[in-house]
Amino acid sequence: MEKGVVYPGSFDPVTLGHLDLIKQALTIFDRVIVAVADNSGKKPAFSRKERIRILKELTEGMPGVEVDYFSGLLVNYLRKKKVNIILRGLRAVSDFDYEFQMVLTNRRLAPEVETIFLMPQEDYFFLSSSLVKELAELGADLSTFVPANVEKELKAKLGRK
Ligand code: ADP
Repeated sequence: MEKGVVYPGSFDPVTLGHLDLIKQALTIFDRVIVAVADNSGKKPAFSRKERIRILKELTEGMPGVEVDYFSGLLVNYLRKKKVNIILRGLRAVSDFDYEFQMVLTNRRLAPEVETIFLMPQEDYFFLSSSLVKELAELGADLSTFVPANVEKELKAKLGRK
């Protein structure tokens, strides 16, 4: 039977760390659903539509990857997609507390759902979308952090004019 996983996140913007995780997930799962969170609490640099478009452009050549979005409870989205595994990335220890809390919360809400974690290559271990946004504002070279088209679009939005 086909095994799928949902990889949820803000992806504001998608980084090489996210793409590394998607590639790793494809070696384990037949179907990787990258689900852009519609978190109204955060003020994103890229709209949901833009984040979806960029993710689609970058995963076009990766069979098995779908790009979608969700709002509301993640476990409800999983039920809708008939998938019972969540994929998250685990970087430096700072991710642990929050992720552990989310696993326990989701388990309470939906006992059939499991969360798995993958670790990125060491080059991306400290990489985050927020770091990338700060660097873009300061005009730094982002070529080792994000794909070229993301750097271009981000700098057009945030970079110094
Ligand atoms: P969220 O707001 O849900 O944390 P992010 O887009 O920041 O959204 O991250 C989505 C997922 O991708 C999270 O599980 C996060 O740990 C993971 N992730 C983010 N950056 C990296 C990276 N550099 N390497 C591996 N995983 C990452």
